[in-house]
Amino acid sequence: MIDPKTGFIDHTQIFHVLENTLPPEESEVKEILSHALEMKGISAAETERLLMVEDEEQIDAICRAANRIKTEIYGQRLVLFAPLYVSNLCRNDCLYCAFRKTNTAISRRTLNQDEIRRETENLVSKGHKRVLLVSGEGLGESALDYSIRAIGTIYDVKIGNGEIRRININIAPLPVEGFRRLKDAKIGTYQLFQETYHYDTYKKMHRSGPKADYVNHLTAMDRAMEAGIDDVGVGVLFGLADYRFEIMALLQHVHHLEERFGVGPHTISIPRIEPAEGSDVSLRPPHAVVDRDFRKIIAILRVSVPYTGMILSTRETAKMRREAFSLGISQVSAGSRTNPGGYSEDDSGAQFSLGDHRSLDEVIADIAGHGYIPSFCTGCYRLGRTGADFMDLAKPGLIQLYCLPNALTTFKEYLEDYASAETKIAGEALIRAQLAEIPDDEIRRKTSHNLKEIESGKRDLYL
Ligand code: SAM
Ligand code: SF4
Repeated sequence: MIDPKTGFIDHTQIFHVLENTLPPEESEVKEILSHALEMKGISAAETERLLMVEDEEQIDAICRAANRIKTEIYGQRLVLFAPLYVSNLCRNDCLYCAFRKTNTAISRRTLNQDEIRRETENLVSKGHKRVLLVSGEGLGESALDYSIRAIGTIYDVKIGNGEIRRININIAPLPVEGFRRLKDAKIGTYQLFQETYHYDTYKKMHRSGPKADYVNHLTAMDRAMEAGIDDVGVGVLFGLADYRFEIMALLQHVHHLEERFGVGPHTISIPRIEPAEGSDVSLRPPHAVVDRDFRKIIAILRVSVPYTGMILSTRETAKMRREAFSLGISQVSAGSRTNPGGYSEDDSGAQFSLGDHRSLDEVIADIAGHGYIPSFCTGCYRLGRTGADFMDLAKPGLIQLYCLPNALTTFKEYLEDYASAETKIAGEALIRAQLAEIPDDEIRRKTSHNLKEIESGKRDLYL
C-alpha cells in the first residue's frame, strides 16, 4: 500500500531489515557475488545482505566483483561533463546547502542569457561537449521559461569545432506539462536527487519551500517519465541518514520506475556532503560516510544495478575518484565551478567547496595516464538510443561496441582541438592501444577510418 507520507518507499520494511539482519557468513557473500557476476543484477534481498557486510576481506571481495562487472560492461571509458550553475537564488531551506534561502553568507546571482553564453563559450573553448545545467529554486513561475531559454543559448554556442552536444539538467521538479516542455527543448537526462529517502531526516533537513514536500519530490521522476523523458537520473546526498537505509530505498525507487515504465533510471549520482558556506550541517553531517563505506556503496550499487550509469562529481578528491572509477563510476565532472559565473569570473557564491581543483586538461591527462579513455560521446542520445532502448543495448560487451569507438573518436577530437602537448602524446598512445582492443573487425575498421577523418578535419563522427 502506498503511504501518503512516504509514497512508494516502504520504510517499515527497511527498518525491519536494519534491526534484524546480522552480517552474512563468507559463504553467503561468495554465493551472492557469483550470482552478481552473471551481470543481470541481484535481488533486493541480496543487496540487503551485502549492505550488512563489515568484514574487510569481504568488502574487498565485493569491490573485486564490482571491478569485474564495471570492466566487462563499460570497459575503460569514462564520460566527462561540466556543471553549469546559472542561479543560486533559492526559496527552499535545505540545511546542507549554501544556496538555501536563509543563508546570508553568500552573494546571490542569476545569470542573464549573455552571461550564460559567456560561461558556455568558456567551457566549449576548453573542450567540453556535455554540460549539466544546475539551478537553485528561486525563480518561481519564470523558472521553466528561463531554463528553456538557457538551453537554447547553450546549444547555440559554436566556437571553431566546439559546441555543447548534450545538456543534462538538474532543476526543481515540475508538473508533467512542464517536463513535456523540457523534453521539447531537447534535454538529455533530467536529474533530481531525493537527497535522503529517510522521511524524518528529510523533514528535518528541508524546513520550508516546495522541496519540503517529500512525496512531490519523490514522484518527480514519475512525472518526467510520463512526459516522455526517457533518461532520468536519481541520487542520494550521502551523510544525511544511514547509508544502508539510503541504498535500500534508492533501489526501491529504481524498481518502482522499472515496474511502472519498463525501465529504471539512466544514472545514479552519489554525492557526499561537502563543506558549504553558512551550513553547519555540511560541516558536521549527521551520518558522514567515511571513505571505506563510500567504496562499499559504489561497489554494492555496481553489482546491484550493473547497467545504470553512476556519476561522481568534483566533490571528491582526485585519489578517491581514481578508486571509484575502478569500482563502477561511468561518468565524472571535470574542471568544475559551482557558482553562477564561476567559469568566466571569480568563485564567490559557490554551492560547496570542491575536492578536485584541476583543469579539464589535467583531469584528462590523469585519467588517460591510468588507462581510462575520457569520452565526450553523445551518440546514443542523438541516435535515440535512450531509456529502454539503451538498457536493451547495455548487455555485457555490447555497450562497448558503441561506447568504446565513440569514446575514442570524441577523445581524438579533444586531442586535436584542445589538448596540451603532453596530453596529446599520452592520448594518442592510449587511442592506438585501445583501438587494437576492439574485438569486432568491422567496428575496428570503421573506428580507425573515423579517427583518420578526424585527423583530416572532420568532426562529430559516431556509431
Ligand atoms: N535546486 C535543485 C535541487 O535541490 O534539486 C538542483 C540544484 S542543487 C544545487 C543540486 C544538488 O546539490 C542537490 O541535489 C544536492 O544533492 C547537492 N548539494 C547541496 N548541498 C551540498 C553540499 N553541501 N555538498 C554536496 N552536495 C550538495
Ligand atoms: Fe535550493 Fe537545491 Fe540548494 Fe535546496 S539543494 S537550497 S533546493 S539549491
